[in-house]
Amino acid sequence: MTSTDPIGTVETVLGPVDPTALGAVDAHEHLFLRTPALPGDDFHDLDQMAAEAADVRRSGIATIVELTPVGLGRDPRKLAELSRRTGVHVVASTGFHRDAHYPAGHWVYREPVETLVEVLTTDLVDGMDARDWQGPVPDPTPYRAGVVKVGGSYQQISAAEARRFTAGGQAAARTGVAVAVHCEVGTTGHEALDRLADAGLPSDRVMLAHLDRNPDPALHAALATRGAYLLYDTVGRVKYRPESALIALIADLVAAGHGDRILLGTDVGRRGMLRAYGGGPGMDVLGTTFLPRLVGALGQPVVDRIMHDNPARVLTRRGN
Ligand SMILES: [Zn+2]
Repeated sequence: MTSTDPIGTVETVLGPVDPTALGAVDAHEHLFLRTPALPGDDFHDLDQMAAEAADVRRSGIATIVELTPVGLGRDPRKLAELSRRTGVHVVASTGFHRDAHYPAGHWVYREPVETLVEVLTTDLVDGMDARDWQGPVPDPTPYRAGVVKVGGSYQQISAAEARRFTAGGQAAARTGVAVAVHCEVGTTGHEALDRLADAGLPSDRVMLAHLDRNPDPALHAALATRGAYLLYDTVGRVKYRPESALIALIADLVAAGHGDRILLGTDVGRRGMLRAYGGGPGMDVLGTTFLPRLVGALGQPVVDRIMHDNPARVLTRRGN
């Protein structure tokens, strides 16, 4: 394995950057995605997604964490080109989603955990695997992943998903990066932390995504007390709840002393939610609409902590 010394930096698709250079971070997005779980809602056009990302940049967000894992149309070369064109830092992920995204017979079910760990570690250290690339790649730049994703099902982590939690936790512990967990409708938070801890990953290296689908302040405070980051990533999705409820949830957690554990994103993982494809609310809804309201409610210092300090801390690669 080739290796620079990435400890203390954040790995982006264009190379390691100093954590202080990230600016405001949208901690959960998808820039190129294709999955059998969302038929007809895939998006993989570079020009359109660069336009969407440019809107995000204009809204004041400087870094996007791209949480599309292995096998879902992740495209390291396009991510790098989008980053070059827009000036947005892109932190790419390796890892695996929940079962719903992999058809029966997919290699993620078949390969032993040791092989899964090797796939992830290669993506994190040497550069992302060619299995998601769109054809032969002349560019020798090793586009490294900077974070690991794993996913569980609603109310339970299946046996197959548990194997991928083990692999993700081991690869992250080995390489010093953080893990983002897809918590379906905000469930399985405690179990996810338990499984990753069993794999050697401390809870303060874990981001629990979609917790705001179950906006329960006491549950979130308990997870934050264990050290986990609460990734609220349904900003703009008012079919789930009004934005005022999300602001109230954040205020509750800040008041309970957990302002250092909150992360924000929009996770607009469908074509129909992207303005570039004629949908809405658009990936820039966080910067254009939500953050001004949050600043009004909680003040700029709290929002700076959530948008700058917390993501910089969790995304920085740690030594062992
Ligand atoms: Zn997502």
